[in-house]
Amino acid sequence: MFEKLISESAGKSPWLFHINAGSCNGCDIELVAVLTPRFDAERLGFRLTGSPRQADIVVVTGPVTKQSLPRVLRAISQVPEPRCIVTMGSCPQSGNVFRGSYSIAGPLSKYVDVDVDVAGCAPKPEAVIDGLALALKILQEKSAKRSKAAKAPAAKAEATAPETKAAEAAPEKAEAAPAEPAASTPAEAAPTTAAEAPAPETEAQVSEVPAPEAAAPASEPAEGGNN
Ligand code: SF4
Repeated sequence: MFEKLISESAGKSPWLFHINAGSCNGCDIELVAVLTPRFDAERLGFRLTGSPRQADIVVVTGPVTKQSLPRVLRAISQVPEPRCIVTMGSCPQSGNVFRGSYSIAGPLSKYVDVDVDVAGCAPKPEAVIDGLALALKILQEKSAKRSKAAKAPAAKAEATAPETKAAEAAPEKAEAAPAEPAASTPAEAAPTTAAEAPAPETEAQVSEVPAPEAAAPASEPAEGGNN
């Protein structure tokens, strides 16, 4: 149920998590322009978040350096499914002018499945919004697939529910049957001594308590009262 709710709501107002993987900051400035009032992608439901755990779409800028690669992969792995990965600018897509450098580990597609590439150096805000709209569409498709997958096991469970109930009821009856004779058997109640028995609950237990031990406490206080 919870899984289904997440899947259906994830594609409606996606939150973005931005990773700078070694960018020159050209792309980052354009992304800020996308989210601020002039282009105002927030009116379409896109919102920047500081935590990958709250995000639906990851936007990666920069050529993915060897130093940033493990951090990038770790942050992406923390974004819950369904998620969409967008590369912004030529750097994460090919390395751009940094390609072949000793410090570059990219492109990003060598390590994870990238859903949308927004080309340019740096891409215009209009191109970024276009890419985000495409990412939203992909996210909705992924959410729909997950909803279907979540519904399928629930339908199977409902179909098999009567069988399960019948199977659960049968052992209860089987357990209840031998319990009745065990309670009414006098042989098990016989070894119980008066000291062990907490209180006579039934008439049968009262009659099994030895007569002298039961009578003694009653007569002692009566004698003490007379003295
Ligand atoms: S694509 Fe161009 S603007 Fe963007 S980070 Fe690379 S060099 Fe900078």
